[in-house]
This record gives sequence, structure tokens and C-alpha cells, in this order.
Amino acid sequence: MTSEHNVDIAILGAGMAGASLIHLLRPAREQGLTVALIDRQPLTEEQWSTDISQRPPSFDGRATALSYGTQQLFEKLGLWPAMAPAACAIEHIQVSDQGRFGQAHLHAAEQNTAALGYVIENGALGQGLLANIEQLDNVELFAPAEADNVQMNAEGAELTFTDGRKLQTQLLVMADGGRSPLAAQLGIRHSRQPYGSHALVTQVECDQPHNHWAYERFSRAGPIALLPLQQRCFALVWTLADDQIDEVRALADDVFLQRLQQQIGMRLGKFIRVGERLSYPLALLQSKEQVRRSLVLLGNAAHSLHPVAGQGFNLALRDAAVLAEHLNRAYRRGQNLGDLALLQGYVQQQQTDQRNTIVASDALPKLFASQNSALAFVRDAGLSGLAAAPTARKLFARHAMGLGQRAARV
Ligand SMILES: Cc1cc2nc3c(=O)[nH]c(=O)nc-3n(C[C@H](O)[C@H](O)[C@H](O)COP(=O)(O)OP(=O)(O)OC[C@H]3O[C@@H](n4cnc5c(N)ncnc54)[C@H](O)[C@@H]3O)c2cc1C
Repeated sequence: MTSEHNVDIAILGAGMAGASLIHLLRPAREQGLTVALIDRQPLTEEQWSTDISQRPPSFDGRATALSYGTQQLFEKLGLWPAMAPAACAIEHIQVSDQGRFGQAHLHAAEQNTAALGYVIENGALGQGLLANIEQLDNVELFAPAEADNVQMNAEGAELTFTDGRKLQTQLLVMADGGRSPLAAQLGIRHSRQPYGSHALVTQVECDQPHNHWAYERFSRAGPIALLPLQQRCFALVWTLADDQIDEVRALADDVFLQRLQQQIGMRLGKFIRVGERLSYPLALLQSKEQVRRSLVLLGNAAHSLHPVAGQGFNLALRDAAVLAEHLNRAYRRGQNLGDLALLQGYVQQQQTDQRNTIVASDALPKLFASQNSALAFVRDAGLSGLAAAPTARKLFARHAMGLGQRAARV
């Protein structure tokens, strides 16, 4: 059977990673590159479920910390003006270790920027990425449409949808999330290291303004992040051991708020309201291969990180930007987009950034969870060192802000 559709690039998955890549490919699309964007979920908010846990995984009830570098990239892509009204600037960050004296503060003013990063609800991020997507040059949408088979062939790859349609492409970008059955069909294996914990995610309201402070508090059970949102609200990401998560998620609101208050103390004021609670099992997931001829794995499909440092999407976007830089150039030169050397060039360029970000996201929760007194000393020394040394603070801040590497040309 011949394919009904033929495109240059097919992006499977319109989550944060796939939807971002569409925008980054604009230079080539404007010159005629055709791209298909595929998702089993509809792409407009009006069609998403009112139950936030049933929405597309990238655009559910969470909030995301965007690094300063990510915000700058969205600005260049012309996406930021639509997102900005829903985003809250992080101007200060406090990192502390429960029960220890170590503590460090980062300030945007010290980095000569308006913000260290921004926090945005995932629904608003989704609207910003997907609004008017059907009007973009040379984009064909397949949504809702579920792909259930992939075959690599001489021309590239062929996807088959559950309704029997087929789509042939020179390059397939699998941005289909952390548990891709299609990658498994192709024999691509993943390593999975569970952390033995879940992230409990919700919003809490405080009786005092947050003044654009974000808090990262490390406790033996795991890190707790409070990220400023609109008004007096914080997005809460609370790491809890697997055997605690159901109990804490089900607590009555007042008991939940008390429990949280015990962890944080009264320094931010009194927590007075809590929203719907969601939970996510935490594991470091890495695919054993990121590229093959005519194939790239992107976003969670390539690597899914502990959310402690809020780097998963920020890293995926840097990957997408570098990938797009290679693809835009290759299209301009008339090269085959599935060329293995071309795709390997992308992985090579992102290797250091990926390794550094993954190692840091993996090490931080382990370092702070340890009862070992030598490690506690390292933590104290690290936090005190950051507190005392502006140069160390600058370096640390630059990495947290997503500025630790050469930015892709957009
Ligand atoms: C608790 C938590 C907090 C986080 N906080 C941050 C943060 O503050 N900052 C940050 O940078 N990152 C954060 N992250 C990470 C971030 O959420 C992920 O990096 C991001 O969601 C990855 O998106 P993705 O597009 O790769 O995958 P997904 O969101 O999983 O999207 C995959 C898409 O593919 C579609 N799909 C899958 N299979 C098929 C198929 N066969 N056919 C059709 N469609 C298909 C799905 O419907 C889905 O829409 C956090 C993660 C967690 C768990």
C-alpha cells in the first residue's frame, strides 16, 4: 500500500518538545519544508478535558519553571508576548537544607537580568505554543490521531495510524514522551532508574505576597520547590517517598497545609489554600540511542529527568533548538534530512549540555537525601560557598538560567 501523505519531517507528539520544534523549523518551512505534527490529543484548549489530569501530559495541571534562556528563545520566536501575561518572573531564589545551617540566595539583579527565570502554568504554555498552529506555513496537523506502527524504509520512515492512514517522511522525530511503544517497536531500549519517590504537584496560596521569590528546600524525604505564580500563589512540587504519596495526596486540605507548613516554617507566611493535587512517579529515563538514520528521539522520549532543578523541558528546548539549527541548514543546502552523519552532528553538539544537566538533576536529590555526615558537610560547604562567593554564584546562576552553553542560532 502506498502512503497517502508524504512530508519532509514528521513530529510524533505535540507536547512541549514537539510543539516547540515546529516553531524552531520556521526558516526551512518558509522555504518550503513540509512538517506534520501528530498527537493523539486535540491541539486546542477548548477541546481538552476539563479534568486536568486527563489533558495532554505536557499541558496538564502543573506549572513549569522556564529558564531565562528559554524565555529569551521564546522571545526570538515571537511566542513570548502571548505567554508573558500568564508568566511570573522569578527574581530571587533561596536554596536551603532542612535542619542544617547552609543556605544560599540568588538574585536577578546580581546577574544583571530582569529575572532568573519565569513560572507559567502548563495550560498557558500549551496555548502559547499551539495557538494558531494550523495557520503556520507548511504545517499539516494530524490530531487527534494515534500512530500505532512505524516502519523504517529506504526513503525514511512510514507511520501508520489506528484509522489505517499512512504517512511517509524523510525524518521522523519521536517526541512522544517517556514510554514510547513505537521506539520499543524499533528495538530502541531505555534505561530506567526509579528514585523511589513521587512528585506531588499542586498550587498553594499564602497570606503574604511572594515578592517573586522561589524556594528550593531540601529535606531527607526529598526536595520541595515553591515557585511563584500570580498573586500570592505558589506552584508546589513536593517530593515524597513512594509509600507516603497516597496518604499525603488524600489528606484533608487543612491537614495538608499544616503538614506543608511544618516542612517550610513560617518564613513565607501562612499557607491558606491548596488546589487539586496530582502525582508523578520519579525516575531517570534515558534512551540508549537518540538518533538513527531518518530518526531522532526528542524531549522525554530521549531523556526524562528528576524535576528537582526544573530542567527537563529547558534541556529539551535547547536540544530542539540545536536540532533545528542543523535541519534548517541541511534543508537550505538540499541535503537529505535523514542523513545519519547530520543527525549525529546534532547529538554530538548537545552531548555536554545533556550530560551536565542530567548529572546535576540526578545528583542533587541524592546528595541532599543522604544522612551521611560527610555529605552533609559537602552540602553545607556548597551552600555556604555559594552564599559567600559571587563568582561561584554567577556560575551556578548561569547554569540554572540555561546560559551555560552556546545558544543555538534561531
Ligand atoms: C512534576 C514535574 C515537574 C516538572 N517541572 C519542570 C520545570 O519546572 N521545568 C522544566 O523545564 N521541566 C519540568 N518538567 C519536565 C517537563 O514536564 C517535560 O520535560 C515535558 O513535559 C516533556 O514533554 P515532551 O513533549 O517530551 O513529552 P510529553 O509531554 O509526554 O508529550 C508527548 C506527546 O506525544 C503524544 N503521543 C505519544 N504517543 C503518541 C502516539 N503513538 N500517537 C500520537 N500521539 C502520541 C502524547 O499525547 C503527548 O501529547 C517537570 C516534570 C515533572 C514530572
